[in-house]
Amino acid sequence: MKTFNVPVIYRSPLISAIKNQRKQQDRMKKDFTPTELNFGPIRILLARHFGFCYGVENAIEIAFKTVDENPGKRIFLLSEMIHNPHVNSDLLDRGVQFIMDTAGKQLVPWESLQADDIVIIPAFGTTLETEKQLASLGIEPLKYNTTCPFVERVWNKAEQIGQKNYTVIVHGKPKHEETRATFSHSQAGTPTVVVKDIKEAALLAGFISGKRNPEEFYTLFEGQYSAGFDVTKDLQRVGVVNQTTMLATETQAIADHIKQVMISTFQLTDANVGERFADTRDTLCYATNDNQTAVTGMLQETADLAIVVGGYNSSNTSHLVELCEEKLPTYFISSPEHILSADAIQHWDFHHKQTIHSDQFLPKKDQVTILLTSGASCPDALVEGVIRRLLSFFQLEHKADELATASQS
Ligand code: SF4
Repeated sequence: MKTFNVPVIYRSPLISAIKNQRKQQDRMKKDFTPTELNFGPIRILLARHFGFCYGVENAIEIAFKTVDENPGKRIFLLSEMIHNPHVNSDLLDRGVQFIMDTAGKQLVPWESLQADDIVIIPAFGTTLETEKQLASLGIEPLKYNTTCPFVERVWNKAEQIGQKNYTVIVHGKPKHEETRATFSHSQAGTPTVVVKDIKEAALLAGFISGKRNPEEFYTLFEGQYSAGFDVTKDLQRVGVVNQTTMLATETQAIADHIKQVMISTFQLTDANVGERFADTRDTLCYATNDNQTAVTGMLQETADLAIVVGGYNSSNTSHLVELCEEKLPTYFISSPEHILSADAIQHWDFHHKQTIHSDQFLPKKDQVTILLTSGASCPDALVEGVIRRLLSFFQLEHKADELATASQS
């Protein structure tokens, strides 16, 4: 895979050495067991895959290069480039301004932009409406485009099935930048509706089977369907695509459920279900699949707790947390400093969107085993920071240096 020029502050020689070693031993990516880092009183099991993905590195390279090559120019990002507070704040420090927040709220009025301003499209992509808006201001919309190719692949899939007269069901978080962009691209070609989870997919299935009153659709799915969507006509032939970072198990469950409802409603068989249900497979990206499978592999091990590092609004990271939470106490942090001491940690409860302070998170025993991973937009330097912070409570920080030297040799 292509390598990118990412600022060195985000790299970690220790983590790079570990990743390289694992890559050499397992080129076909078949081994999802974690890497064991045994420091005596503390044992860390590091997920096989985590950290910056292709799309994030691509976006970071383009954004930082654009800043370096355009001194004196006003540079804007449509919204957060990726969902990581460190990277976004580094860009803000370099004078980049965000036009919108992650929910789409305007921070910089369109009227204040000028034709010679630079506007960078983030890795999530953007809507056709925003592209049009930029063009109307004389700004070439795709000149500084960091849209991830794996997101564009979803748009292509939606377009393909739309051309075959299927309605597109987008499984994604309705307010997430990527889902808003996918919705916009898809609805330009075919009726489109967004479902956020299996519960909403089941609700939608009620309209496919005719068990629900069609009128209810417009209230239940307000803001999630394309203009002119006719629930009585537009759910006769459907296909599912998804936001690239959703939970793989839920994505599969949604596609299976909708397919079964199509089969029973229209008396189809596995042989002819394609007449009404487009076979799209999932459109999750490789990083989502690798990172979730690596967490599943890590969870096979016995451990005391899990730490997941990443931005609190990061979809792919929150799904890693969700997987870990099913098995053991899990602490979602965005920075090593959130481990306040050997006794206290400040972490994020993404279900209720609040910070929680937990005491005695490290059990008192001879050896504590911790599962450690991070999201696709989290710099490896932060994961190394977490390892060092944990070691510091045992006066073992020098062990990280020893390990880095040993791993590189
Ligand atoms: S998580 Fe996947 S879709 Fe998103 S930027 Fe990374 S590779 Fe692209």
